[in-house]
Amino acid sequence: MSTARLTINLLALANNWRALDAKTNAETAAVVKADAYGLGAGPVSDALAEEGVRTFFVAAAEEGAEVRAAVGASPMIGVFSGHMEGDADLLQAHDLTPMLNSPEQVQRHEQSLPGHAFGIQLDTGMNRLGLERSDWAELRERIEAQNPALIMSHLACADEPDHPMNTYQLRNFRDMTEGVTARRSLAATGGILLGPEYHFDLCRAGVGLYGGMPFAAAKPVVTADLPVIQVRELAEGETVGYGNSWTARRPSRIATVAAGYADGLHRAIGGGIDAFAGGQPCPVVGRISMDLITVDVTDLPEDPERLRILNGHQTVDDLAEAAGTIGYEILTSLGARYSRGYVE
Ligand SMILES: *Cc1c(COP(=O)(O)O)cnc(C)c1O
Repeated sequence: MSTARLTINLLALANNWRALDAKTNAETAAVVKADAYGLGAGPVSDALAEEGVRTFFVAAAEEGAEVRAAVGASPMIGVFSGHMEGDADLLQAHDLTPMLNSPEQVQRHEQSLPGHAFGIQLDTGMNRLGLERSDWAELRERIEAQNPALIMSHLACADEPDHPMNTYQLRNFRDMTEGVTARRSLAATGGILLGPEYHFDLCRAGVGLYGGMPFAAAKPVVTADLPVIQVRELAEGETVGYGNSWTARRPSRIATVAAGYADGLHRAIGGGIDAFAGGQPCPVVGRISMDLITVDVTDLPEDPERLRILNGHQTVDDLAEAAGTIGYEILTSLGARYSRGYVE
């Protein structure tokens, strides 16, 4: 076996959903876009539906088919990108609920799928997706007459609790949705943590389910085990890898491990991360290559067969920090070459 293995703990996933759900009096939906943040939309959605999740979200209609197959007929599956040209068949075949984002999408939906469930996304200041205030004002009556399943918006700065954008968007959302009878949703993981005024009827938890910040109390969901391909002895003064970026300061044993930047271990990781043999951390040294990393295993009593790069001690957010990015990007870039196993 020369490829890395991801182990996804569905019990920890379910636990994180329950913990987030317990923070609100609202329904907690699960965001499973991008193949459930890289962890496998089918098994993840299946486990969450078993746990009691009744609403799922994907980014694009194409992603909805796998989720529908996993969760069965009753949960709602919302599509953030709304109703794009050519989506009607997919939306209908898999009973997906598009979150309409523009007057064009509203019109397209009314024309191609009259009577088919939809939601509305409003722009409250992020300027990314959603109806503008003026379009909403114009269309509101017509839309409300068709009983939208949800009216939602998205926060731009929810991971910074003191950011004035949060209260600004909250005010806009309240203002724009005053008096609507449809269910309302503003919060993702960060918004859940901002407190009850952000919760409305439904919260859309994504990264927190998968063990990522800003949900600091999340249980780690993913471990990644990397096979060791070979171990070699270095004399003091020998160097390792591209650019000779690491030099042995003592006689050393270096393990070459099968995973690299093509597998989501960003090349920007300059050091400061470990690979673990059991509980023992071994520093990753030298540059990250496309398919390989090198690890100083001098202090291990025996050569390891595999090393763990993600665990409860070194999380996706630790790898993200070392790479100058965010946990979301690490999670979603854990590569297609990993085999995946699920613990339930
Ligand atoms: C991705 C996304 C979410 C989930 O966000 P997390 O920060 O991962 O919880 C919720 N709503 C929308 C519109 C999104 O795009």
